[in-house]
Amino acid sequence: MSEDRLHFQAEVSRLLEIVARSLYSNKEVFLRELISNASDACDRLRYAALTEPSLSEGDGDFHISLSVDKTARTLTVADNGIGMNRQELIENLGTIARSGTLAALDALSGDSKKDMQLIGQFGVGFYSAFMVADRVEVFSRRAGEMQGWRWASDGRGEFTVSADEDVPRGTRVVLHLADGEDEFLDEGRLRHVVKTHSDHIALPIRMHIGEADETLNRASALWTRTRSEVGADEYKEFYHHVAHAFDEPWLTLHFKAEGTIEYSALIFVPTAQPFDLFQPERKHRLKLYVRRVFVTDEAEGLVPPWLRFLRGVVDSEDLPLNVSREMLQGSPLVAKIRQGLTKRVLAELGKKANDEPDSYAGFWEAFGAVLKEGVYEDVAYRDSLLDLLRFRSSEDEGWHGLETYVGRMKPGQEAIYYVTGDDMEAMRRSPHLEGFRAKGVEVLLLSDPVDEFWVTAVGTFREKPFKSVTRGAADLAKIAAEPGDEPEADAPVPPAGIDRLIALFKVALKDEVKDVRASERLTDSPVCLVADDHDMDIHLERMLKQHRQLAVPSKRILEINPTHPLVSRLCGLSESEAARVQDMAHLLLDQARIVEGDPLPDPSAFSRRL
Ligand code: ADP
Ligand code: MG
Repeated sequence: MSEDRLHFQAEVSRLLEIVARSLYSNKEVFLRELISNASDACDRLRYAALTEPSLSEGDGDFHISLSVDKTARTLTVADNGIGMNRQELIENLGTIARSGTLAALDALSGDSKKDMQLIGQFGVGFYSAFMVADRVEVFSRRAGEMQGWRWASDGRGEFTVSADEDVPRGTRVVLHLADGEDEFLDEGRLRHVVKTHSDHIALPIRMHIGEADETLNRASALWTRTRSEVGADEYKEFYHHVAHAFDEPWLTLHFKAEGTIEYSALIFVPTAQPFDLFQPERKHRLKLYVRRVFVTDEAEGLVPPWLRFLRGVVDSEDLPLNVSREMLQGSPLVAKIRQGLTKRVLAELGKKANDEPDSYAGFWEAFGAVLKEGVYEDVAYRDSLLDLLRFRSSEDEGWHGLETYVGRMKPGQEAIYYVTGDDMEAMRRSPHLEGFRAKGVEVLLLSDPVDEFWVTAVGTFREKPFKSVTRGAADLAKIAAEPGDEPEADAPVPPAGIDRLIALFKVALKDEVKDVRASERLTDSPVCLVADDHDMDIHLERMLKQHRQLAVPSKRILEINPTHPLVSRLCGLSESEAARVQDMAHLLLDQARIVEGDPLPDPSAFSRRL
């Protein structure tokens, strides 16, 4: 039959170039990748065969086998799993589906050492075969189909696919080893590599050595073993396999739940933020097993969406083996497991937050924004989640919890003050913070889009209301700067004429602002805009506008700083000069808009007045 010659997706070609050029010190991991794929393929067929037994064609002895041909200098990794048909070979081995790897490719610098490190974090999966082989052949036949296929490539831009007869069900990957890679023809070396990286694979990995078939790995599901039996490296290798990830697990959670329902869980929190974390589907990536048999990695409701960064395995003793995805939906058993997992994970996170705050800060930077979704949408866990939240604040550079904030509140301070924005530095410089800073009142700096929502939903913490510094009155007069200071003692006296100035501003700006008033929150800047108590906060409105979800923006309050030299000069103007205040009012309003980062409604009027 004829042979089709096809091009790799451009990204794959780039990836392969780097892989082939790389002086990667840890080349042996290619074997882990091929074994991991073989194991997945067997899992998938075993599950499919539960509902369609004919698929396993009488061969349910799932295993992976390695073999070497020293004369031909080939190493072969074979499985009797689900296999691939022509279309699947082309798609799976000619393109990159994983968004993380694609994104990593965009970030490549051209410096091969750095690039390899970066790619190492996302993994090259099947393509790692080209680290040791200068030609790779894949023979595969999809379970339930008659026709077998041969895929072949030297990893330089193209591959071929042709029909092939007598291909057994499953996949056989033949590596034609490159010069200098003969170590991978050595059985002792292979046995060692399998032991090191793939011992956790639940299926037997067999190799013919001397006269006998030897099983190289332990071949039992890692999560069924007790914790004391499993080493940190084994957990890590398993994490790489189950999560298709290449970083270190930040947290490893291995436990067995016994009682009304029974399940084992081996769950990881990654160190690095996965690229698809903020996709709108908010899908989790836990694999559900039933009594050691893989069922699905799409069990809806297995964990709440705000724990979607978890990776790993949950193995139920109670669910029926032939459970369909539809049956899982809304299943009370699954809901119980979700409850158990959630409590357990939150408790572990709490421990980490207390015992290792620096390490927890790293976790928080990667996944904090996701946990905050839980505060907003999952009332049952709200209190535990509030204790886990960490914040930047106007006071210092560190991460602090709400408890710390409340402990640092000033005498007379009744609210937890916060500001929301996109950019930490811009928030730190915001004029709205001036008065708070002058009194040493801490302001939380919130920069995640979800912040607007959970803060409003929660309302209070330890009976202290959350209050935006860009909305409503500042109430600063009641707060003492230092313990022992009398509130109000150092309040500046407003200049005479401020009331007249405000009245003039109100007339000049009556169509553009809701109100004009003297500010408590400004010390250095002349003006700022704030939202009225019951109006939408400024940053939220801007976000909604960006997403075109807001028709009519609300009018703002212009606050002017009576102690600012410019303002006191304006207060001192004579009656006849006061007509010029019109222009000044507009200029100052535009000034406030500029500081907010808002576009000016009429830039040419602004420059004319200036
Ligand atoms: P990943 O395993 O993270 O999906 P890989 O590059 O390792 O990425 O593999 C790409 C895809 O090729 C797999 O998702 C799978 O669909 C397919 N594949 C690879 N090896 C096998 C195999 N031995 N049997 C069946 N499918 C395979
Ligand atoms: Mg893989």
